[in-house]
Amino acid sequence: MVFILFGFGKKSVKWLAKTPEMICSNCINVTIFGLAKITTWFTLFFIKIIPYNTQRALICPICNTHIEVSKDECAKLLSDTAEDESSEAE
Ligand SMILES: [Zn+2]
Repeated sequence: MVFILFGFGKKSVKWLAKTPEMICSNCINVTIFGLAKITTWFTLFFIKIIPYNTQRALICPICNTHIEVSKDECAKLLSDTAEDESSEAE
């Protein structure tokens, strides 16, 4: 009996930068948002094989709300903010 374990939806988050302080439209706190690239993977035996969806988002550290940004907006935010070599997290 052979089991093939595959799945969709495993996500990895790569932090690109931190924004200047902004007001969160969800929790109404003034905070520093994280700009992240979120990749969703097709997995086989829990190993990430193919990235099938990539989105960029500003993430509120307080309420964890995601504000999606386009690739162009993301590039603009990156050029506006100081580069941040922060770590990668799952
Ligand atoms: Zn918030």
